[in-house]
Amino acid sequence: MSIFTAPAFDQHELVVFHKDAASGLQAIIAIHNSALGPAVGGCRMFDYADESAALNDVLRLSRGMTYKSALAGLPMGGGKSVIIGDPARHKSRELLLAMGDFIESLGGRYVCAEDSGTTVADMGVIRERTAHVSGVTKQQRFGGDPSPYTAYGVFCGIEAALLHQRGRASVAGVRIAIQGAGAVGRHLAARLLKHGAEVFVADVNADNLKRAVALGATAVAADQVLTLDVDVLAPCAMGAVINEESAETLRAAIVAGAANNQLAAPEQGEVLRQRGILYAPDFVINAGGIIDVHYQQCGGSAEQSERHVEQIRDVLTTIFRESDQCACSTHAVAESMAEALFKHKAALPGDAACG
Ligand code: NAD
Repeated sequence: MSIFTAPAFDQHELVVFHKDAASGLQAIIAIHNSALGPAVGGCRMFDYADESAALNDVLRLSRGMTYKSALAGLPMGGGKSVIIGDPARHKSRELLLAMGDFIESLGGRYVCAEDSGTTVADMGVIRERTAHVSGVTKQQRFGGDPSPYTAYGVFCGIEAALLHQRGRASVAGVRIAIQGAGAVGRHLAARLLKHGAEVFVADVNADNLKRAVALGATAVAADQVLTLDVDVLAPCAMGAVINEESAETLRAAIVAGAANNQLAAPEQGEVLRQRGILYAPDFVINAGGIIDVHYQQCGGSAEQSERHVEQIRDVLTTIFRESDQCACSTHAVAESMAEALFKHKAALPGDAACG
């Protein structure tokens, strides 16, 4: 893989590789941009097919964190780390301690948080070797699960999209399909049902599907969820769900969900716009988790997290209006708004002080 010309490289400030023979750790830390603050992002553990897949993932994800934190109005840059290996088979206390040493060696330029393949308990072990892990002990909120905040942000984003498209924010009576009833999808389903939405869920994991159905959602087949005749599609499973085919065939009027990198390519954002489908850019609508990580880190309260997450409504509304005005995709508008913040240090939206 050529690195400097890869689209995911995009002028990363620092990419560091580390191998610890004793514990078997093989990891990469990528810092995309730290103009607005230390690079914060999750530590993902995954059994990558090869090292270039791991490198591509960490570069793509850390770049995404720069854009996400900037538009969330957080004093943070974008970074990410990956541990190469199967969490079920290769994770050990020694490996996590070695990861802690690796993070510590960067002296605070990168701050770690949990991600897929790592848990709150893992962050506790990493913390034995470095303070550069999100969370605070004195508030008893160290490493709390951010997914309820992510789900709340998605809920606020769906309301903003409904208001912009239909003039009414309420989800009552609105038909919403959720792809992926995991940590975020389940919290989202519960909140939507509580507010009177008609919720459909699809999941390849039978247990997760069952738990969502127990909340009151209707199960649909995983291969049908993208073409369901609904008002809103909320992708909450994996990336690249909006690809050349699905961008042309999906029937929802709004796409608004938590999954990272929902567009297989930026051009799909324009296809959706031309079809009259309102797309809430993923890195804006799914920022609730990183917003909570910020307040955990600086000792803020759960209430401060929630108030800040609600600002996702205003940011999305600005993006939707600008997209209408410039006749360009919401994804393109959101990217240039973020770049104005971290490249040119435009004023941050909102107030992220912990106070
Ligand atoms: P999760 O692993 O808990 O849940 C994902 C669910 O999707 C699982 O139940 C899985 O079985 C299901 N799934 C996988 N492939 C599927 C398919 N083809 N069809 C239907 N279901 C499928 O993950 P999560 O924490 O809920 O996160 C969901 C998405 O949101 C991920 O893309 C994640 O990167 C993103 N995200 C999560 C957070 C957070 O706070 N957890 C924050 C930002 C972004």
